[in-house]
Amino acid sequence: MIPVNTPLLDGNEKKYLLECIESGWISSEGPFVRQFEEAFAARVARRHGIAVSNGTAALDAAVEALGIGPGDEVILPAFTIISCIGQIIRAGATPVLVDSDPTTWNMDVRQVEAKITPRTRAIMAVHIYGLPADMDPLLELSARHGLAVIEDAAQMHGQTYKGRPCGSFGDLSTFSFYPNKHVTTGEGGMVLTNDDKLAEDCRSLRNLCFQPHKRFVHERLGWNLRMTNLQAALGLAQLERLDEFLARKRRMGAHYDAAFSTLPALQRPLAETDYARNAYWVYGLVLGEERNMKAEEAMRQLAARGIGTRPFFCPMHWQPVLQRQGLFKGESYPVAERLYTQGFYIPSGLGLTDAERDSVCEAVAEILA
Ligand SMILES: *Cc1c(COP(=O)(O)O)cnc(C)c1O
Repeated sequence: MIPVNTPLLDGNEKKYLLECIESGWISSEGPFVRQFEEAFAARVARRHGIAVSNGTAALDAAVEALGIGPGDEVILPAFTIISCIGQIIRAGATPVLVDSDPTTWNMDVRQVEAKITPRTRAIMAVHIYGLPADMDPLLELSARHGLAVIEDAAQMHGQTYKGRPCGSFGDLSTFSFYPNKHVTTGEGGMVLTNDDKLAEDCRSLRNLCFQPHKRFVHERLGWNLRMTNLQAALGLAQLERLDEFLARKRRMGAHYDAAFSTLPALQRPLAETDYARNAYWVYGLVLGEERNMKAEEAMRQLAARGIGTRPFFCPMHWQPVLQRQGLFKGESYPVAERLYTQGFYIPSGLGLTDAERDSVCEAVAEILA
């Protein structure tokens, strides 16, 4: 079986991990955590990086740091991961969805303004699969309406928007370091911001809101979201190779693109837009509706040929857990629905060998020619 993802861990990972073990620094108090925060923040041109336990936790902390609560509305794409919406709902705020652009699969920024009400507090932009969301119109809207912006850059390590790093936009940005991301720490995440107060709040929320002078007296409820020194050691080693990793992903994308260009009724990822070149976090395929085949069937046939795949995101308004709360009644987001029904991604990890990649191409051509 060719797995949908294999990480590449053959740089300084082992060396730095050994340093943790030999020095005894394994908890979040170890020196790699700060080093990783500083190096990563520098890479995305941010003043502050707050390393946390995963990308979902980073989003939770970002939403909580902005003080989003009952009565507030937060605009986000329908086509995203559940991580984006969790804390909005737990905080008692209302998520407001926007459909995707059919070509980039990102939130269609032209549909955002119509969703703004006097209750809107924030826009959560999420960069999807390899291309950034179109940030400038979102930043312009947020400035005009006095809204906060959270940028979920979990899939965008090293990617740029109009030459500026993804993760450098908005009041707060977040990353994940799950093993299928361009930089992994096993499990891990980071919140980034230029705002001293938001950074201090995120650091405090990460660490149970312990107070410096009255440690066990709490004015606010936080979480334990701390990243360990072991994780940060991995992250630092991975970050050293980010440019090489990006080049590798783009080579993979170009190869898949060439291999699939003649297959009929198949939408491939856009190679570029006027603001970015695709970074191919994953290589997704969307089956044309004229085909008598849904993503589920294609994934089944590829599995039978030893090829691992993943379905595209199931849109937020189709989530049973959210529907049961009475959310999104009667709402429809046709592009997000089509992407979920017709879309899936194929092995795209950094550890994918050329031979594996060629087997994937063959199998895809076999079932879709
Ligand atoms: C991976 C991912 C997350 C969640 O990160 P975890 O580290 O798995 O919790 C959040 N948002 C997006 C867009 C992601 O791709």
